[in-house]
Amino acid sequence: PVPGPSGDGALVTLLLYVPTGTRRCNSNVVRKTTNALETPPPESPPSPPRSLHPPAPALLVIAHPDDECMFFAPAAVRLVGCGVPVRVLCLSAGNFYNQGEIRKKELLESCGALGISLSHITVLDHRDLPDHPRVQWDRDLVSSLILRYIQSHHIGLVLTFDEGGVSGHVNHIAVYYAHSSLLECCGQSTNIIRKYISILDLPISWLRPHDMIYILSSEEYQQARNAMLCHRSQLLWFRHIYLRISRYMLINTLNQIS
Ligand SMILES: [Zn+2]
Repeated sequence: PVPGPSGDGALVTLLLYVPTGTRRCNSNVVRKTTNALETPPPESPPSPPRSLHPPAPALLVIAHPDDECMFFAPAAVRLVGCGVPVRVLCLSAGNFYNQGEIRKKELLESCGALGISLSHITVLDHRDLPDHPRVQWDRDLVSSLILRYIQSHHIGLVLTFDEGGVSGHVNHIAVYYAHSSLLECCGQSTNIIRKYISILDLPISWLRPHDMIYILSSEEYQQARNAMLCHRSQLLWFRHIYLRISRYMLINTLNQIS
């Protein structure tokens, strides 16, 4: 049997690699250089306080409510933990079974569990972007919507699916192909065996090429699990199994797009 992640106390707890200085925790601490023994001339006005510049927001682009925790919880939890403002742009309400309104509320709860501010969540629910496994979304439309969001919120990092869509859903893949030249980081899709071997996938994830890797501690896994449990309308029996055995609840490996 595959060991449950909650029982593994040896999980690595660090953000192992970040691509730029702005992604490192505490990267924006301003070092004071004033010598405390020096007395400034009395006529000198006091120096204005130096402000700490917050890191540019990261944007998670997803197709449906629950994508954020099913596929990107490790990255979201880690970025929030590093003080990076994380925003979520969800392109549909997930209305395939007419549960869109319920699922939008569940998305808010789930993002709250991940530490994402509720004011940073946008669900577009565009009529031309229905939640449907056989409807191809218009790439130009998706591109323009994502680009507009990036520009208006000064996004510094974009995370979304790769060309495999992780689960293979056409809406996921459409996000990637809509504007892949714009996107910075894509969560790697894996084969079905790696997808369901939980923490046992760690050595493979580690050894295979990637630009970023996010690995959750057992405590952080509980946070991701709590987020998943917010999606009550989606918690069919197989989702409970997914929670226990999916490597995406513990590990995200991402590639940068040049
Ligand atoms: Zn989805």
